[in-house]
Amino acid sequence: MGAPTIRTSDLATQTSRRALLSLLLVASLSLNAGCLSSTIIPDDGRPLVVCTTQMVGDFIRRIGGDHFHVHVLMGPDIDPHLYKASPSDIYRMTRAQMIVYSGLHLEGNLQPALEAMKKTRPTFAVTEDLHDHHQDKLIHLGEDLYDPHIWHDVALWAQAGEYTAQKLIELYPEHKDEFEKNWQTYKAELVQLDHETREQLAKLPVKIFVTGHDAFSYFGRTYGLEVHPVQGVSTENEASVSKINQLVNLIVEKKVPAIFVESTLNDRNLRALIEGATHRGHRITIGGTLYSDATGPVGSGAESYEGMIRANVHTIVNALQPKS
Ligand SMILES: [Zn+2]
Repeated sequence: MGAPTIRTSDLATQTSRRALLSLLLVASLSLNAGCLSSTIIPDDGRPLVVCTTQMVGDFIRRIGGDHFHVHVLMGPDIDPHLYKASPSDIYRMTRAQMIVYSGLHLEGNLQPALEAMKKTRPTFAVTEDLHDHHQDKLIHLGEDLYDPHIWHDVALWAQAGEYTAQKLIELYPEHKDEFEKNWQTYKAELVQLDHETREQLAKLPVKIFVTGHDAFSYFGRTYGLEVHPVQGVSTENEASVSKINQLVNLIVEKKVPAIFVESTLNDRNLRALIEGATHRGHRITIGGTLYSDATGPVGSGAESYEGMIRANVHTIVNALQPKS
C-alpha cells in the first residue's frame, strides 16, 4: 500500500494563492455574467447546492427532495483525486447557497477552493463527523490521514448520510419533517443494500480481489474480501515493477480467476498483470469494470450510488464465482 502524496503544508501555502486566483477568475467571469448565468446557473428559484461527487449529490437529492437544485461537479469516469476546478466550477461555487463534498482529502486538488468557500457560505464534508468523532471507524493511513473511499462500506456511508441529513435540517429547519422522512426512506434502502451486498459476497469461494488502486479497503474489510490494489489510495503514485511482480505471484499461486478495471483509471497496470500471469501459464481475465470513485454514465444502471454498488457486486460475483 503506497503512502499517499498529500502534503497538507503545501496545501496551506497554496490556499491563499489559489484563493486569490479564484477570485480573479470570478471577477473576470462576472463581467460576462449576463450570458454565463443563464447557461451555468439555473434560475428556477431553488437554492443551488454544488456537490463534488454523484454519491454526495444523491444524499442531497434524496434527503432534500425537490427543495434544491443540485449540481454535481464530477461526472462519470472522473477521478476525484486528480480533479481540478474549471472556471465554470468556481463560478458555480461562488453562486451556490451550499457546497457539499466527500472529504478525507478525496478531492485533493479542490481542497483550497473548498476551504476558501467555507468562509462565505455553508460548505461541509459529509465525512466530517466521522473524521472528528469516529476515527476508529476509518482506515488510518498516517497523521490525520484516512482512506477517503468510505462509500464502499454501505453502512458507514449511511452514517455520513445521517450527518448530512442533520446538517440540512440545521440549515433549513423549515423542512425538518420532510427531510427526516426522506432520510428514513433512503436509509432503509441503504440498510437493504448493505444486507444484499453482504449476502452475495459471502457466497464467493475466491475472496482475493485484485484491482487498479486502493479504493476498496473499506469494501474488503466490511464484506470479507482480501483486497490487493496495484496502486495506492491516491492515483497520483505510479505502480512499481516489484509491486506488479508481487501481484503476479499472488495471482498465479492462488489461482485468481479475474482482476478488475476501474472506470476512473486506465488499465495499463492490469494489462501488465495479465501478461505476467499468462507468461507463467495461468489464465486470468479482466472480470469487468468497477465503479470505484465515480458512478456510471446515464443508462448504465450505475448512475446512482445504489446502482453503482449493485453493479460492482454483480461484476465481482460473476467474475469470481467458479464457472460450471
Ligand atoms: Zn480513489
